[in-house]
Amino acid sequence: MLTLEGVHAGYTAIPVLNGVSIRVDEGQFVAIVGPNGAGKTTIFRTISGTLRPFAGRITFDGQDLAAVRPDRRPHLGIAHVPEGRQVFASLTVFENLEMGAYTEAGRRAWKENLEAILGWFPVLAERRNQLAGTLSGGEQQMLAIGRGLASSPRLLMLDEPSMGLSPAIADLIFEKLLEIRKHSRLTILLVEQRVAEALESADRGYVLEAGRVVLEGPNSALRADDRVRQAYLGM
Ligand code: ATP
Repeated sequence: MLTLEGVHAGYTAIPVLNGVSIRVDEGQFVAIVGPNGAGKTTIFRTISGTLRPFAGRITFDGQDLAAVRPDRRPHLGIAHVPEGRQVFASLTVFENLEMGAYTEAGRRAWKENLEAILGWFPVLAERRNQLAGTLSGGEQQMLAIGRGLASSPRLLMLDEPSMGLSPAIADLIFEKLLEIRKHSRLTILLVEQRVAEALESADRGYVLEAGRVVLEGPNSALRADDRVRQAYLGM
């Protein structure tokens, strides 16, 4: 569904991504893990189009994304739940979800999507008229995911959904993602610093260090890898 082939990108002349190749098949849950500053967020920016790669190719359903304007990419079915959630603080929970439904597919399926989102996240139903800025961090993350789902995506990209959350709330978010995936045909691409949890939830993973993929494979193989165990799992 999504491929990155030899992507080089950065913000200045100094590259942040040095030839990243990643493949996400339809229906898969793929995690990209790695230390701070490795370039995980930068990968997402090249996919959603806020950053143009210096070199390399990104395709979605076989279509070269270089030919698709960033503002059109959500309409192809790519949703990006950004780092730090970035909910619209002065709008209500309901209005935030409505804002998410701006794609053609999202508008068409608004009623069904809303019902599904409020079913997965009952706390959003209870607080549907509350201003998003007054929600707890975990609730805001659920809202950010719900807003992404309201666009009727086929690929949901999540940038560090556990950031700033307690371990218990982070676990709840990962459980919800698995539940959502089980009941939909959604493909998930996750970036995480919580490596153990991410590799437990995902089918496949990539370890990114200094803008390069240093390891990739099924989650079970990565969890058993000595380098991953020592560097990321504290074993
Ligand atoms: P983190 O988990 O800390 O967010 P990350 O793996 O997502 O890390 P990126 O955010 O992709 O890493 O950052 C990779 C590098 O790019 C870092 O050195 C960072 O300072 C730099 N960088 C990120 N955004 C910008 C920007 N807008 N302008 C210049 N440099 C940037």
